[in-house]
Amino acid sequence: MDGGEARAVRQRLESLLRAGVEQLPRARAAAPPAPASSEPGPAPAGPAPPEGTPPEEQAAALELLRGEVAACTRCGGLAAARANTVFGSGPADARLVFFGEAPGADEDASGEPFVGRAGQLLTKIIEACNLRREEVYIMNVLKCRPPGNRTPLPGEVANCRPFFERQLQIIRPEFICCLGASAARALLDTGDSIGRLRGRWFQYGSAQVLCTYHPSYLLRKPEAKRDVWDDMKRLMARMGVTL
Ligand code: URA
Repeated sequence: MDGGEARAVRQRLESLLRAGVEQLPRARAAAPPAPASSEPGPAPAGPAPPEGTPPEEQAAALELLRGEVAACTRCGGLAAARANTVFGSGPADARLVFFGEAPGADEDASGEPFVGRAGQLLTKIIEACNLRREEVYIMNVLKCRPPGNRTPLPGEVANCRPFFERQLQIIRPEFICCLGASAARALLDTGDSIGRLRGRWFQYGSAQVLCTYHPSYLLRKPEAKRDVWDDMKRLMARMGVTL
């Protein structure tokens, strides 16, 4: 390692320490089988930044993680086909995280989550909740687009898990809204259908979790908007947001 690399590593470690990371990551013990072309890499795990970590340090920790995601080639096929990884957007100290499935074509092209048709509908839902898109954090289970927007494979979710878990540990949201079955199953480690999961409260770390239908589903089935609105009213009531 030359002097420049050693300096970069030292700076990174200092930044992680400021963000509350006291132990270096260790790979998950029993990760489910990954896709054949994946390259295992170190898992970005570790203790959550302590409560009271300044937002600038949360933002710095997220930027480090964004860099790791951008360099990831664990799912070889997804990495080879992507234009961009799609890390997430929003304030590093957001109270509320919307957690989706995976980038689509528009997100892959722009590197931003939920910017296509489903994303525009998500923005409308957020605004109907008297919130601005810029004040919530938006992220997905997978950071790379699956071909043809197919459902993420279990091995792909396993490869991305250390990233989304770490992302949530850094943000420490009070509330997480899972959009659709893939997000709910990945977060809550369940095989239940979204119809059974929606409208109920779950706990993930210190966050209260509510699941609802994915906006893409609403584009196909507009009559389900009524259920999503019921879920949003429940979420806003618990957040103390007046509608
Ligand atoms: N669908 C998702 O689940 N996430 C996106 O970012 C876009 C569409």
